Amino acid sequence: MPELPEVETIARQLRPRLLQRRFDAVDILWARTVEQPSPAEFARELLGTSVQEVGRRGKFLSFALSTGKTWLVHLRMTGKFRIQDGVGDSGANTSTEEDPHVRARFQLDDGTRLDYSDPRKFGRFYLVEDPCSITGALGPEPLSPEFTVAWLSTALKDRRGEIKRLLLDQNFLAGLGNIYVNEALWRAGIHPLRTANSLTTDEAIRLHGTIVSVLREGVENGGATLPDRQYVYPNGDLGQQQLHLAVYDRAGECCPRCGYVLERIVQAQRSTYFCPLCQPCPHPDRVESDAEREG
Ligand SMILES: [Zn+2]
Repeated sequence: MPELPEVETIARQLRPRLLQRRFDAVDILWARTVEQPSPAEFARELLGTSVQEVGRRGKFLSFALSTGKTWLVHLRMTGKFRIQDGVGDSGANTSTEEDPHVRARFQLDDGTRLDYSDPRKFGRFYLVEDPCSITGALGPEPLSPEFTVAWLSTALKDRRGEIKRLLLDQNFLAGLGNIYVNEALWRAGIHPLRTANSLTTDEAIRLHGTIVSVLREGVENGGATLPDRQYVYPNGDLGQQQLHLAVYDRAGECCPRCGYVLERIVQAQRSTYFCPLCQPCPHPDRVESDAEREG
């Protein structure tokens, strides 16, 4: 699932191609892609409008339109945009093979076609007057000045859940997903099962720093394209952050910091990867008794 660095990269790639461009044709091929308003209304309202800004809030892409409305997109698991150069709706598409998973198609006034493809069909479009009606409950942006050490330290104090689950909660902090949470916790040396309010001030400071650093690096490297290739740029290029991941999907490999074998557990139906040495277990008693039993 695209996380903050991937969605940010997509927004940066789409911006120069879409700014001031007008939608000359809008085809919704899978009706449920449009969550609100109705697919027909969405297509009618988008037609003839132009794009004034392309941005991101959490994992949402946002397109500010000349009508004053905002088109929000959540890509969920497998949604992706693809820019098709010079393929008008005349059918003269010779450059690329047809993608059977295209759910929406947009013809722009410069001859470019924008395809929205989504094999698993979980991605959603929203066309709204006020983007906050959709994104209002989201937590702060981790790469904004709002996200400070003081904010994080205070926010953690009220939370009794596991730190990893909390960081995945978009209403706590917007934009993190499974890849970058695993990496941030490893860098900070914090076990994913720790309860959020058990973190010391030093740990909260470290965690704040590693959340910012993994996300910044993710953006600089254009996001992480995993082997499933569900995340690629709108021009088809691949991200590079997967080459810099220390623990994500590396169970059984050696920790890049200490050399110990990385482990995998399941939390909230998601894989968690960590180093048992660099990220000490919050329940040492339990581990000790296991070890005694085995010994
Ligand atoms: Zn380690």
